[in-house]
Amino acid sequence: MRTRHLALTVVATSLVLSLAACGQSSEGGSKQEEKKGSAGSTIGIAMPTKSSERWIADGNNMVAQFKKLGYKTDLQYGEDDVAQQVSQVENMITKGVDVLVIAAVDGKAFSDVLQQAADKNIKVISYDRLLLGTKNVDYYASFDNEKVGVLQATYILDKLGLKDGAKKGPFNVELFAGSPDDNNTRYVFDGAMKTFKPYIDKKQLVVRSGQTRLDQVTTLRWDGGTAQKRMDDLLTKAYSSQDVDAVLSPYDGISIGILSALKSDGYGTSAKPYPVVTGQDAEVASVKSIIAGQQTQTIYKDTRALAKQAVQMADAMLNDKKPEVNDTKTYNNEAKIVPSFLLDPVSVDTSNYQAVLVDSGYIKASDLK
Ligand code: BGC
Repeated sequence: MRTRHLALTVVATSLVLSLAACGQSSEGGSKQEEKKGSAGSTIGIAMPTKSSERWIADGNNMVAQFKKLGYKTDLQYGEDDVAQQVSQVENMITKGVDVLVIAAVDGKAFSDVLQQAADKNIKVISYDRLLLGTKNVDYYASFDNEKVGVLQATYILDKLGLKDGAKKGPFNVELFAGSPDDNNTRYVFDGAMKTFKPYIDKKQLVVRSGQTRLDQVTTLRWDGGTAQKRMDDLLTKAYSSQDVDAVLSPYDGISIGILSALKSDGYGTSAKPYPVVTGQDAEVASVKSIIAGQQTQTIYKDTRALAKQAVQMADAMLNDKKPEVNDTKTYNNEAKIVPSFLLDPVSVDTSNYQAVLVDSGYIKASDLK
């Protein structure tokens, strides 16, 4: 009884002390103390671009979920411009947000700004793309990016009949990767190449252009037009006498560019069918293309679930709780290993788009008409 009374006195005393400290802080003390845990906190959300549907959904999903918990939000899009996005984040810091959620245009561009954030005790969540070269990033919410590449390459092996040994090849494949300044690019490409390697080694898969290194196959800013030009070039230089059987494409916007180049080159007829073309993000235009028999596959990553992870991370930190993570090994950002929550990507083609995308409410059936 006496111990309990003592304990209660200690709690009460420290409460009084901390309330006094709070009172002081409002006179000019740390902002963190005033706002921590309060539902009125503001979350700065920096997304890379509106040119792709997924990031619009990511932004909207986060705003809706944060608002439900009583947070205010400041959502900005960098329009794929590194300097513009850095200055948007700088402004959020100046305005005094409590947490930053950043999906970077260029993962390496934020070291200085994030030092300013750390100095103001602002927490930082790296969203989908890892922020590099700074210890001032608290958590990372993403999908298993290596698995995205494994799923894309496995799909190609399967469709070509190489996986179950039904066919021996050789088959011609060309490789595309994402933007060189996006950390995901390397993980996705490595996952795909690890999967392809035994078949390339046995010459069952042949890359006729000879372009197999990451630095030869990246696509700046994941731009579909840039990919289209490169595909035009590959077709002219390496495919005058043979057809291409598969194209590893990392993202739906790039797949659309690749398919345009293929179409201009006469693919898409019964005599010269489209090669297997992968993708990522399950964007409406690509799902329609899959239904129409052009693009073959995409990777579905539920942006609603990713937003939910970022929201639980921010909410936990603002309430002095530990966010939930499921990976503490994979994502080394060159300054630290960033504790991560990684979600599972899902391969989608004509056989399962209805169940995975439409029945789950991710895409409306009417949008695919
Ligand atoms: C994301 C992909 C997206 C790509 C282009 C990557 O960082 O992980 O989902 O397709 O950026 O926006």
